[in-house]
Amino acid sequence: MMNEIPEKLITAIKKSRYVVAFTGAGISAEAGIPTYRGEGGLWDKYDPNLYANIDYFLQDPSYYWNFFREVRYPLLKNAGPSQGHLALAEMEAGGNLKTVITQNIDGLHQVAGSSSVVELHGTTRIIFCMNCSQEYTMDKAFSLLMEEFPPRCSKCRGRLRPAVIFFGESLDPHVLRSAYEEAGKCDMLLVVGSSLVVYPAAEIPLVARQKGATLVIINKEKTGLDHEADFIIQGKAGDVLPQIIQSLRE
Ligand SMILES: [Zn+2]
Repeated sequence: MMNEIPEKLITAIKKSRYVVAFTGAGISAEAGIPTYRGEGGLWDKYDPNLYANIDYFLQDPSYYWNFFREVRYPLLKNAGPSQGHLALAEMEAGGNLKTVITQNIDGLHQVAGSSSVVELHGTTRIIFCMNCSQEYTMDKAFSLLMEEFPPRCSKCRGRLRPAVIFFGESLDPHVLRSAYEEAGKCDMLLVVGSSLVVYPAAEIPLVARQKGATLVIINKEKTGLDHEADFIIQGKAGDVLPQIIQSLRE
């Protein structure tokens, strides 16, 4: 479906010096990554209290590693970036986008080619030893997991964990600070595929807004900040962003 991209939006993007994108589950859903929340989301099938809670993970990591082996790893192994991910990478390459701040943990922005990515909730693509901090790729962690369950560090036999923020953990203050810095610096914030309900999702666009940035929301559904937005385009990132790029070129 073709969306109407307002001419004013294209002009505003061209005029902006520092555009930042803020992405959520919607852009990854378009890449075939199931969302966590909402109907049919992963948390309907997998109780987050067992699979994603830090206290439970420390007590018994087998649920998480089972989830990693059966769901997370095969999903990411087979998923490629969506048209939306690719479009944001293209905007960065073309000088129209500085940074992506994302709530997603699948690393697909980097796979698409984005180089400046702030991952608020960490990444499943890095697994590290809780004892010696040795890092492993997903592939390596998967092979360790095939040898021993739950997997252990091949250097020190310490326990492994993914570099994601579990429920019950705070966001990394350095990561959070750079997200707020980017939001404070930008003169345009593009919200893409986030319904802006999960903390700090709703707050980061507001920081940008308070500093005078133009707020653009591209999402399939209404969001919690539509009333604050300068431009709202209801649609899929993979449809809307390529059209924006096309218009920027014309
Ligand atoms: Zn170790």
